[in-house]
Amino acid sequence: MKVLVITDIHSNLAALRAVLEAAAPFDKVWCTGDIVGYGPEPNECVEMLAGLPLRATAGNHDLGALGKLPLQVFNPAARAALRWTADALTRESIQFLESLPRTLVTDDTLLCHGSPREPVWEYLFSPFQAENSFPVFAQQLCLVGHTHLPAVFRKAGGAACEQVPWDPPVLTIEEGLRFILNPGSTGQPRDGDHRASFAVYLPDRHTVENIRINYDFSLTQRKMSQAGLPQSLIDRLPWGL
Ligand code: ZN
Repeated sequence: MKVLVITDIHSNLAALRAVLEAAAPFDKVWCTGDIVGYGPEPNECVEMLAGLPLRATAGNHDLGALGKLPLQVFNPAARAALRWTADALTRESIQFLESLPRTLVTDDTLLCHGSPREPVWEYLFSPFQAENSFPVFAQQLCLVGHTHLPAVFRKAGGAACEQVPWDPPVLTIEEGLRFILNPGSTGQPRDGDHRASFAVYLPDRHTVENIRINYDFSLTQRKMSQAGLPQSLIDRLPWGL
């Protein structure tokens, strides 16, 4: 079985399409949220995902676009993009996004957007933060998103959680260790690398590979300009910030 793991697509259809093409063929797609927000093609991204063998959780931007989180908690550019997104969403897209749970377990893997401890809002930037989430779930593997940064947090028994670089890109899910992994953002990476980020999980081989691929961000930028989305969001894409 081959599982494509994606997160933080943020209505960036060009990036999503490139990732799906690069990862194909795959058996399942797992997405840990923020399908919409920031970008120019929320309905197109929802439609594309809805046609896949998908399991997905809701992100804070998905919930913000649905009016389930107050928009004041988002920064001004994110808020402006969420207002635009809320207006643009079709009835079908709203239904799809409303169906997303905040956490789910599939194939003995926990999916959530922020952290197991606080699935919608907590950012896992450090092993100290991740440490507090390991007691909250029972599975060996948890997949998250939210920070837009690829990350590997691992924990052995009672030892303190450690963060290790995702290098080499093929990570082995070793027996006796538990992991919280972030595949990095498909539609708005923030680690200084503009390329779309995703992961491929091969449960039978116990490996998760982090992969980066180029996509035509100028296409997304043009559509953002046409939609009147904030310039700061347009300018950040080539920088991966
Ligand atoms: Zn996000």
